[in-house]
Amino acid sequence: MHPEPSPKMNGHFAAVGDAPTKAQYEHGVQVIDEDKEFKCAARLLRSRRRRRRPTDVADAGFNYHLISVFGSQSTGKSTLLNHLFGTAFNVMSETERRQTTKGIWMSQNKTASMTDNILVMDVEGTDGRERGEDQDFERKSALFALATSEVLIVNIWEHQVGLYQGANMGLLKTVFEVNLQLFLKDRQSTPRSLLFFVIRDHIGTTPLANLRNTLIQDLTKIWSSISKPQGLENARIEDYFDFAFAALPHKVLQPDKFTDEVKKLGKRFVPGSRNSKTQLEHGEQELDGGVFLAEYHRRIPADGFSVYAEGVWDQIVNNKDLDLPTQQELLAQFRCDEISREVLISFDAAIGPLEEQQAEASRIGKPLVLADLGGTGKQTRGKCVKAFETQASRYHKAVYARKRTELEGKIDQRLKALYQGQLTAAHKSGVSSFSDAVSGAVKTGQKSGAAYEFADIVATEKKKCLDQFKTEVQNLAISDVAWTNFDPQLALFEKELDEVSARLRKEEMRRLATRVERWVKSRLGDAVGLEFNKLGSGRGGSGAPEEGEKLPMEKDLWDRIWKVFISIVKEAENRFTDRARSFEASEAEVEVGLWRLRRKSWVALREKVDEEVMEGNILLKLRENFEDKFRYDDAGVPRIWRPADDIEGIYTRARESTLTLIPLLSRFRLSTTYAPPDLPTFIGHQPAGVEPEDEDDLTPIGGIDEEDGKSLEEEMTVLSESKRQDLVVRFKKMADGVYVEAKRSAIGGITQ
Ligand code: GDP
Ligand code: MG
Repeated sequence: MHPEPSPKMNGHFAAVGDAPTKAQYEHGVQVIDEDKEFKCAARLLRSRRRRRRPTDVADAGFNYHLISVFGSQSTGKSTLLNHLFGTAFNVMSETERRQTTKGIWMSQNKTASMTDNILVMDVEGTDGRERGEDQDFERKSALFALATSEVLIVNIWEHQVGLYQGANMGLLKTVFEVNLQLFLKDRQSTPRSLLFFVIRDHIGTTPLANLRNTLIQDLTKIWSSISKPQGLENARIEDYFDFAFAALPHKVLQPDKFTDEVKKLGKRFVPGSRNSKTQLEHGEQELDGGVFLAEYHRRIPADGFSVYAEGVWDQIVNNKDLDLPTQQELLAQFRCDEISREVLISFDAAIGPLEEQQAEASRIGKPLVLADLGGTGKQTRGKCVKAFETQASRYHKAVYARKRTELEGKIDQRLKALYQGQLTAAHKSGVSSFSDAVSGAVKTGQKSGAAYEFADIVATEKKKCLDQFKTEVQNLAISDVAWTNFDPQLALFEKELDEVSARLRKEEMRRLATRVERWVKSRLGDAVGLEFNKLGSGRGGSGAPEEGEKLPMEKDLWDRIWKVFISIVKEAENRFTDRARSFEASEAEVEVGLWRLRRKSWVALREKVDEEVMEGNILLKLRENFEDKFRYDDAGVPRIWRPADDIEGIYTRARESTLTLIPLLSRFRLSTTYAPPDLPTFIGHQPAGVEPEDEDDLTPIGGIDEEDGKSLEEEMTVLSESKRQDLVVRFKKMADGVYVEAKRSAIGGITQ
């Protein structure tokens, strides 16, 4: 999923030079033209095709080699490179004899038998007729080659060997001077280079060993002749250079031998190692195998080569001090930024759509929990950082580390926002689905009529929601990334679930209270109704009452009502407590509930009593009570009035007896104490846990709620003085009516 480095990368180099024609391309690419302009090194390193070629050097990292060739003009350098590496650098035609290689060209090794990724630079020779004494370009190209190449091939005719004043020696002097200048700034690494002398038109009479000795003597002489910068006065040539030598026969005169020897020479362009035992004087490299030693490598990653080369050339051409460490740091900054941008594009592709979805969801105010955000985030972050690491870690370490931190910062900033949004959404939807699930289960439980355990429902749903949130938190966590630890959010979520459960439990308590109150009301209705109905029967109880004496049934009406009330409330309290405990209500909550229940029960009782003593109702009861005494004899047999009967006496007794009920009914009073029941003790003190909303729906009770200004005496008054008198009058009228009727029927009975 890691992005292919875009083919656009390094595209700016294409703009530096004109696109080479196909013919030009075949001859390699011109890196520096004859006007000392940097052209394009990228084309070789980076395919412009969408599909990368397996031979692309750009992906090679450090796994590539760069060789430059030096030497006088027309000494067969290009010819040598073409034979060695299968390149197609322009070669002077035998007939024209004019300079063909202009500036610096680069080509990739085309020989299948050789190590991968060998790049060759063909540098314009000097002392040519065309350039005259252009020492400047020679110096600059030497600097450029030294700053980039591992191996410098020095091409020289056999007959030039020992000609200390020869053109080649001038070139070597330049190379040495330039080298000292170049690596003055880079003392830590002091890269070495290999000077590989290829002696051309070797006749064979002088053995290679002798030629080599002559050359080394000359090199030593040159080295001692150059002026060394301060601090490097004692520097030795072998501190900077290794030497290797090869001789080739005349190409025209001995073409077959030439080809054979070139083939042999080619075999040396492979990785090698230093053979310390045979390390020769003056740093001559004993070739135990290949010429490519790790220490020669300039450590410029292949994909950064083009930028580096341009920077280096820019410094050289503007006669600035070429400071390679700075160049490498600049290169690292440039490339790390480039790689970072690439990586962020792929990050964007994966994360951008998710950010949009989340933004859209929050715009319409609907919490959206993105599926597998943790997986995607983790994977994308890992891939991006890894991709950056793979490419960028080859560059300057400190720059790489800094840019990596920057990149992680950018990635994490966006992921952080996304993750926080995710957790907010998960929190919101988790809380509401918890609340919905509990309420739903309660409703289903209520509908089915079956007993449901509120505490169980809460516990089950809480676990479900908490587990889900926990999974999300775990998915979002990335190991070793501190900010992805969302345990505090998990704790916050759990806390809110607990708050919601507390609220739901309170609601459930209210529902329970309402159910129990309803039950109390209905029980009170029956029980109190029954007691009042007993008033209708003048005899009440069993056995004949003594004449003129108050019936016990009537006398202890309030005792019985209070007793039944207490027992009903006690039962209700037990039910309430049991249920509330079952859903884990706190002691304080239960206490408040019971206190409310007792108050409400009392109010319900008062209402029921008020209903019973409502004018019509109580009058009817009194009438029944009176008629029972008046119309029936002591044995309960209906009287047939005869004129001789003491209608008046019976009437008066019955009326007076019933009239005594009215003061009794007027006040709630126990017969034992002749005082109101101890309502304050029964209701008890207001518990500490009562909250304002617990009191909202409470009716004030006299003698309990002092601020109400109503006394207990008043609370216990069932009929006010005026109502009582009114009732007496009405009752008497009614009784009178009954008496008159009885009288009439007695007379009527005679006439009959
Ligand atoms: P460059 O300027 O150093 O790149 O030289 P070229 O490769 O263009 O060759 C210059 C001339 O030397 C051409 O005419 C070649 O044919 C010729 N040449 C190439 N190799 C040899 C060689 O090994 N010996 C001799 N005597 N001539 C050669
Ligand atoms: Mg040439």
